Amino acid sequence: MKIEIEGQIVKLIPENLQEAQELNKLWQLLVTCVQEDKRIRPLGIYVPGSTEEAKFLIEEVKVSSVSGIPKRYGCIKCGTIVEVAPNDPTPICCGEVMKLAD
Ligand SMILES: [Zn+2]
Repeated sequence: MKIEIEGQIVKLIPENLQEAQELNKLWQLLVTCVQEDKRIRPLGIYVPGSTEEAKFLIEEVKVSSVSGIPKRYGCIKCGTIVEVAPNDPTPICCGEVMKLAD
């Protein structure tokens, strides 16, 4: 997989059929027919050379009012705070389940 960054645009360029299929899965997760947008944000820590993978969390940007108050979770290792919809699974950060912040 080749990654090209041009300003705010990040291009993921698959280099074989398996990568093309995996990229399609990611694409399908991010593209949605309902009005909610999703965003992808970095999760945990990535250190080139010592971390074997870079992790990203796919977040709903708008949490619809019918689903209730979003829950805030914090990571005890790196201090990252995320808000997720009440019905969403508990997010993972730094390899551990995040703790409720409120
Ligand atoms: Zn963390």
